[in-house]
Amino acid sequence: MTDPFHPPSTLRLTVDADALAANWRALDTLSGSANAGAAVKADAYGLGVDVCVPVLRDAGCETFFVAHWSEVAGVIAHVPGAAVAVLHGVLTEADCAYARAVGAVPVINSLDQAELWTATGGGRCHLMVDTGINRLGIAVTEINDARIAALDVDILMSHLASADERTAMNRMQAELLQEASEAIPHQRLSLANSAGIALGPDFAFDVTRPGIALYGGVPRGELTGHIRPVVRVEAQLLQCRPIAPGEGVGYNATFIANTHMRVGTVSIGYADGFLRQRGPGNALVHDGRTLPILGKVSMDMVVVDLASAPDLRAGDWLTVPWDITDAAQQNGLSPYEMLTVIGGRLRRG
Ligand SMILES: *Cc1c(COP(=O)(O)O)cnc(C)c1O
Repeated sequence: MTDPFHPPSTLRLTVDADALAANWRALDTLSGSANAGAAVKADAYGLGVDVCVPVLRDAGCETFFVAHWSEVAGVIAHVPGAAVAVLHGVLTEADCAYARAVGAVPVINSLDQAELWTATGGGRCHLMVDTGINRLGIAVTEINDARIAALDVDILMSHLASADERTAMNRMQAELLQEASEAIPHQRLSLANSAGIALGPDFAFDVTRPGIALYGGVPRGELTGHIRPVVRVEAQLLQCRPIAPGEGVGYNATFIANTHMRVGTVSIGYADGFLRQRGPGNALVHDGRTLPILGKVSMDMVVVDLASAPDLRAGDWLTVPWDITDAAQQNGLSPYEMLTVIGGRLRRG
């Protein structure tokens, strides 16, 4: 029986929990003697923290990285506060108070952040050292500062700028982290993101921080064969209609039929993360049959050619390709963007 207060969604995002768990285990194994954590910022890269965090926890993951304090509550609904690291660190006393109240651990990124954390009571923290990406983290020249010496550092970390490339910078960054580790007392060391894990054991240290590869991304060739796709997206056909030669489809009639056609309007658009780049030249799929996209992608809809699937009717489900390697490349998007643009309606579907 359908619930009149919760009519079913016409959009479906399926996260393959087995594949997600298998990807974490593969990355943990590839991390050698290091333990893999998980980057679950941006609502687990658009796939939903409530879906992904329990799966990663049950697979064995013990450290979860988010960017904002606003992301903490969603994660600690599933894991202890102490397992959550907040990459942006602390900017205000309110951040510090919240961290202590829920037990989440800030990643201290500057001397000012170190001073604030200590002044408000100190306690366990992580520390980011900038070894060349010039984004967040204390400078290598600041590692002997008294404000750093005052910290109780668990994970001393840095972040690779070009781990997906073959560049001398990777080794240089690892060496700088090693140097910092000799000056700063700490429990554990961490450098590698997904691509960094593929660089091998010299980059793994004690904790790795994979994100994109957990969710099916393959940022370096070495990971091919180890990583399974995780995401499946489907949308329902809302309406089918015949169009005659000379008729246009969608805003600005950028597609004009030159023959009689049967077309279908599908319940997914750019508000759901099916961006306008993914219009003409792309296709949806039903049972292996290709349904080319006609005209512009609208906010809530896209129109497809039903020539290859004359049996389809309103209510039928179509597969929306979400291969974050191929589709991203074909449409000038990064695999990260392909996931993080997934919209709220699709996530909640
Ligand atoms: C996002 C992020 C990661 C994860 O990176 P991927 O490339 O998705 O594996 C790791 N570390 C830090 C500091 C990050 O910001």
